[in-house]
Amino acid sequence: MSDRLPGFSTLAVHAGAQPDPTTGARATPIYQTTSFVFNDADHAASLFGLQAFGNIYTRIGNPTNAVLEERVAALEGGTAALAVASGHAAQVVVLQQLLQPGDEFIAARKLYGGSINQFTHAFKSFGWNVVWADPDDIASFERAVTPRTKAIFIESIANPAGSITDIEAISTVARKAGVPLIVDNTLASPYLIRPIDHGADIVVHSLTKFLGGHGNSLGGIIVDAGTFDWSTGGKYPMLSEPRPEYHGIRLQETFGNFAFAIACRVLGLRDLGPALSPFNAFMILTGIETLPLRMQKHCDNAKAIAEYLAGHPAVASVSYAGLPNDKYNQLARKYAPRGAGAVFTFSLKGGYDAGVSLVSKLQLFSHLANVGDTRSLVIHPASTTHSQLDDAAKIKSGAGPDVVRLSIGIEDKEDLIADLEQALGA
Ligand SMILES: *Cc1c(COP(=O)(O)O)cnc(C)c1O
Repeated sequence: MSDRLPGFSTLAVHAGAQPDPTTGARATPIYQTTSFVFNDADHAASLFGLQAFGNIYTRIGNPTNAVLEERVAALEGGTAALAVASGHAAQVVVLQQLLQPGDEFIAARKLYGGSINQFTHAFKSFGWNVVWADPDDIASFERAVTPRTKAIFIESIANPAGSITDIEAISTVARKAGVPLIVDNTLASPYLIRPIDHGADIVVHSLTKFLGGHGNSLGGIIVDAGTFDWSTGGKYPMLSEPRPEYHGIRLQETFGNFAFAIACRVLGLRDLGPALSPFNAFMILTGIETLPLRMQKHCDNAKAIAEYLAGHPAVASVSYAGLPNDKYNQLARKYAPRGAGAVFTFSLKGGYDAGVSLVSKLQLFSHLANVGDTRSLVIHPASTTHSQLDDAAKIKSGAGPDVVRLSIGIEDKEDLIADLEQALGA
């Protein structure tokens, strides 16, 4: 073996996986079992007391899921990861380790519509208060910091318009405030952006999107960068204080730079329960093997389609950071030099009615509420994913009434352009 560090595409295929030690199976087997036999009573006690690592029960960990966790941790450059049932579950589990009732977290206003809902309504019922900031105005994050702020949450490439967030600038605000920066890296995937390289302390994903990549399995993951000191100022008692259910151990003291991932597993996943099915872990692992190939094709197609739309007489504007005159092009060149992603919006001169009509005429594009599929997808956010927002908030989050969102797949770009041409022209 050479002592070369493996590259991204090699890690996407191999990280975390070995031939199965008992059968020789080369693909990672689906360990479809709820529970695992202990060697003896001492072994069982040491697993329950966190003195040894091993499998107990699939709600807390599973060997198929462990391969997925190791692979995504490697691709993101983190110390450890925890797979969960969905992207939303990842967000709940992360914040449960950080916030007590009455605490606050700051979130970028440009987010996946489901996250805006989750933060505004469900988290409020837990006593976790979201404070919104504008990712295009870094000072708005600074102004939002209070003594009860426990985290900052942003998307690397933000829904719905594919805008690029200045991760380093917001990470500086988080450092100064003494709170971790959480980055939802779903729309970029680590192939385009590795937020930990730019100062993120925690990365979350909806694996449902580009990582799984085929629109067939839900999943989520939390990656621990290992960068944050949880012991400062007693702000994070879940990590720094003795845990009564584990014989009084302190997670940060015991697990060091992967303490956050451990907390998410042994406190979050154990008690909240959103475990990922090993079958879904297998599907997503298979998807990740081709992530670099798919992601490049997604981006190349998206750029060609954004250019086509920008030249179309029915189109008022295109918001794609990969276009040279786009507001986010500078940030795209810095953070995502391989491509500006495949999810973006454009607006039609004909407004709301033209948006609804376009969606109904497209044939190759599927009209549905998802992104990051091999297939090309279309949605009209104002009447669907962002319909719960009032008009001002819709416009602020990039989902005004005349806006259509595309998620470009890996088909032939000529076929996608022909479909848009017939729908826009008809
Ligand atoms: C889809 C999505 C989520 C939520 O993930 P689920 O797997 O659907 O729970 C969160 N963030 C972003 C950016 C998403 O696209």
